[in-house]
Amino acid sequence: MTLLDWPIFGIHISCPICRRQSPALMLTEAYLCPSHGVFEADPVTGSLVHLDTERCWYPWQGNWYQQHRNPEGLKIEVFQVLDHLHYQGFRAVKLTLARRYEALVQPHLEFQSDWWRQIYYAKPRLYGLPLEFSPVIDADSRWQVINFEFSTEFGPPAYAYPFCTRWDGGFGKST
Ligand SMILES: [Zn+2]
Repeated sequence: MTLLDWPIFGIHISCPICRRQSPALMLTEAYLCPSHGVFEADPVTGSLVHLDTERCWYPWQGNWYQQHRNPEGLKIEVFQVLDHLHYQGFRAVKLTLARRYEALVQPHLEFQSDWWRQIYYAKPRLYGLPLEFSPVIDADSRWQVINFEFSTEFGPPAYAYPFCTRWDGGFGKST
C-alpha cells in the first residue's frame, strides 16, 4: 500500500464535531470518530459528510467549515462566534457572509423602514449587524469554504444584537 491509497484527508482526521482523532477505515474513504461514528470523504468534491446527520464540512487551512443548508444552523454558528468575541472584549461592527449563502438569508435580511435610516444604513442587516457578502468567489478561494467573517473593534457591542428573539419575530417585515 502506498500513500496514494490513503483517503484524501490522510490516515486520520480530527473529528469536525469533537476534534477527537479519527482514523481512516482501511480501504475506504471513511473515517471513524469514537464518539460520532462514520464520516465519509468525497475525493471528487473534497467534502466530509457525517453519515448519521448528513452534515457536510470542507477543510480550509487545517480547520473544518460546516456547510449550512438551513438558516438556523448558520445563525447558531454566527452567534457562537459573536459570543466568543464578546468574551474577548471585542464588538462586531460588520458581518461579511459568503456569497453562496445569499439566497439562504435573503428572507431574513432587515431593512430600515425610515427613509433617513435607509440612507444612513445603506447596507441591509442580518442579526442586527450591517451585512456584506463576500467578493466573487474566484477572487479569493477561501470564500468557497469559510462561512463568514466579522469586522471587529475593541469595546462593548455597538449594536443591540437581537439574538434569537428577532429571528422569530419576522425579519424583513419592516413596519
Ligand atoms: Zn467526534
